[in-house]
Amino acid sequence: MHLVLLGAPGAGKGTQAKMLENLLDIPQISTGDMLRIAMAEGTALGKEVQDCINSGNLVSDAIVLGLIKERLEKADATNGAIFDGFPRTIEQAEALGHLEGVSIDHVISIDVPQENLIMRLSGRRTCRDCGGMFHIVFKPPVTDGVCNDCGGELYQRADDNEQSIRQRLEVYSKSTEPLVRFYTERGSLREVSGIGQPNDVSNRIASILDEN
Ligand code: AMP
Repeated sequence: MHLVLLGAPGAGKGTQAKMLENLLDIPQISTGDMLRIAMAEGTALGKEVQDCINSGNLVSDAIVLGLIKERLEKADATNGAIFDGFPRTIEQAEALGHLEGVSIDHVISIDVPQENLIMRLSGRRTCRDCGGMFHIVFKPPVTDGVCNDCGGELYQRADDNEQSIRQRLEVYSKSTEPLVRFYTERGSLREVSGIGQPNDVSNRIASILDEN
């Protein structure tokens, strides 16, 4: 099964993708995570994209498509994948539609009002080791700065600052929101509310998947 999670930054795509990984036994493919790993490792790619990412802009379609193609060749993606943060432009969606061995079964748009997104992103903390996500108000860790699940260090993403958040939301409405129409026209889009506890949202998604 190939599943695309659409939604603005902070809508909860990453959280839902991680929950769905266990349910569906297919991997989360997050282009954002792959790019952050390249930055953390200081690779040539990481250096190339870092200013762009930290300021809240999109990296080029060519770079992202290269990462996706490489990732899909790994054995764990043979039976499908959960695309999180990809595609983000019409060009990427068209390219995804032409990739051999990939047919998109579901596109789920997670909808969250803009004022909630800003609150979610500005308080978000992520575990350096396991990628677990916390929030300083809505889901604080038991020990400040330490992941409840693996004990790893929690950090604030460089692009989770006010200026970059505003830019990311603007880029989302200009470049990524048109994908809602793109997939609606192809009959594959379903919308779910992203408000509530992560379990509530994942139950909404699971019931859509159960329908088919
Ligand atoms: P995310 O972790 O999905 O919020 O992505 C973080 C940042 O990585 C984005 O703001 C972009 O700069 C970059 N990025 C991630 N995925 C893509 C993509 N599919 N196309 C272009 N840029 C991306």
